[in-house]
This record gives sequence, C-alpha cells and structure tokens, in this order.
Amino acid sequence: MKKMILALGACLLVTTGHSHLHFGVTPKVVHPLPPSFITLRDIPECNPDESFPQTSLLPHFTEAHQIQYSCDFYDKDHVAWVMILFLEEWSKNFPDTYEIVENSLNALTIEWGKNSKNVKHVFDINGVLFENSQVVGLMESDTEIWVMSEPKLSSTSLVHELVHIALAHACGGADPDHEGDIYPCWSETHTKLIKKVNQRALSFGL
Ligand SMILES: [Zn+2]
Repeated sequence: MKKMILALGACLLVTTGHSHLHFGVTPKVVHPLPPSFITLRDIPECNPDESFPQTSLLPHFTEAHQIQYSCDFYDKDHVAWVMILFLEEWSKNFPDTYEIVENSLNALTIEWGKNSKNVKHVFDINGVLFENSQVVGLMESDTEIWVMSEPKLSSTSLVHELVHIALAHACGGADPDHEGDIYPCWSETHTKLIKKVNQRALSFGL
C-alpha cells in the first residue's frame, strides 16, 4: 500500500518553459499530477451521452462506487486519489484503526449532488444544533454519503463525510455533533486531518 502511494505520488509533469533560451538554466515548472490508475478489471468510463445518474466503480477500492449526475463531477481516478490521501493521513494519526477504515472505504458509495439540501436537526463543526440547515454533505448510512459538487474536489465536504464514515466503523458512531460534547469520537485532530487532506488534494490540482 505504502509503496504504491509512493509510486503514484511520484507521477510528475515536467514542463520546460523556454527551450530555445541560449544559455543558462532552462526554467522548469514542476506540477504534481493526480495519478491515473491502471486497474486489472475494466472499469467503464462515465459516458456523457448516456442518461444520468450513472453509477460506476472507483479504482483501487474493491467495492467502492460513485453515482454521478454529470461526468464532470468527478473523474473516478481523482476521487479514489483523495480517498487514498485520506487513508494515508488517517494511518499517520490513527494507525490502530487503519484497517477498519480502509475496509469501510472499500464498501463506500458516494453520490454527487448538484445543489445543497435542506436538512432538519444538524450540528455545525462546533456541535451547535440547527433546526434547519442547507447542507453540502450528508452521511446517509454506514456505507453511503451524499456530497454536493464544487468546481474543485478539495472544496467539497467529501473528506468531512469520510471522517463520519471512518468514525461510524472505528469508533462505534459517526458523531453527528463533530467537536461538540453530546456525541463522542470526533476531535480537533479529525478537523485538522480534513484540512490537511484537502490541502494535499489541492496540491495535485484537485
Ligand atoms: Zn458532519
């Protein structure tokens, strides 16, 4: 697993700026690219000409799926890459529950939504309860999340919902009030982990 991440993380695009410069060092801009997964099984690509929603397997994770309302949100390789970054950060912070969490992602279904949803009785990140709220992500069950799309994957609540899924499997509850005191499990470390994973995803242009 570690080895694979290193190999994939090493995918770099090197663009040489002005190759016709006469002397000196050619300026180089190095951009890390999110990986393309080479999979043993054939995973069909999203087809913009077919009807939506379309459900497809995600690479790397054995039974993980995404349900798309448009092929633009998102490339399956990019979604899987963010999930791998999440697992990597999880293993650094919570190594004891790595395997349980990895298994929970293997069985995950992610549904992408175009618009926010109105939901009753939701908590913000500090545990403050709201009677009614427009939400951009929801954990529907232990194996399913709904996430509103944004232009960039790292701006969505995907990683936040992954934390809920991880806690549901590794801590005995999804902890709906986050850092609040009513439900156990979610700590400041989880909130920081979300930020870190999204920063790393953004560094890959996602
Ligand atoms: Zn939440």
